[in-house]
Amino acid sequence: LKQIRLDKYLADMGIGTRSELKLWIRKGKVKVNGTICPKPEFKITIDNDEVCFDGKEIIYQKYMYYMLHKPAGVVSATIDNVNRTVLDLITDKQGKDLFPVGRLDKDTEGLLLITNDGELAHQLLAPRKHVDKTYYAKVRGEVTGEDIRAFEAGVNIGEDYITLPAKLNILKSDFVSEVELTIQEGKFHQVKRMFEAVGKEVIYLKRMSMGGISLDPKLAPGEYRLLTEKEIEHLK
Ligand code: URA
Repeated sequence: LKQIRLDKYLADMGIGTRSELKLWIRKGKVKVNGTICPKPEFKITIDNDEVCFDGKEIIYQKYMYYMLHKPAGVVSATIDNVNRTVLDLITDKQGKDLFPVGRLDKDTEGLLLITNDGELAHQLLAPRKHVDKTYYAKVRGEVTGEDIRAFEAGVNIGEDYITLPAKLNILKSDFVSEVELTIQEGKFHQVKRMFEAVGKEVIYLKRMSMGGISLDPKLAPGEYRLLTEKEIEHLK
């Protein structure tokens, strides 16, 4: 069984720095198996001892996986001097070095995965993996069967780049149309540029799923939850 110092255990889970944690542990903020443990050097047996910080159980996990319903107005970055970032929304984060898996535009809403598992992020983002991403969009102008065929064939989104076959599903065709679009790429502003290529403007964009993981309808914009074991397995 793997043993680790109490202060390192909590630092590894992103609760604070080693020096902050030494202080907090001595102050009595940490319980081990239900009893206050004031010793930073106390040896914890991983998966056996129960560690609580400020009354909240801290489970030792190598990687963390969150599903965020990104709201409009926040940026998909880890730090930004001006805007709020998606990481600012994870208010009780556990885990160090979390980052968003790919980017959504500032005005785009919907599913964004946040993790510190670099390998999984690579699996999901590498262009040759062709991971499906499905978006719901409101588009100015009537979307037609011609657009379905154009997206199926691939459209030129600039710099002579032709998109891979994409599946367009028209939910409503009107002055403002509603569609679902599934793409396997993630070029900068891809969905907006694809509609531009057929002379239409995206006025609302929301990612509904990625790699077979769907946005939990119980999450309001700005809310998040941990991925379930099943969802994590599904992504791998
Ligand atoms: N395509 C876009 O144009 N914007 C996004 O945020 C995601 C996909």
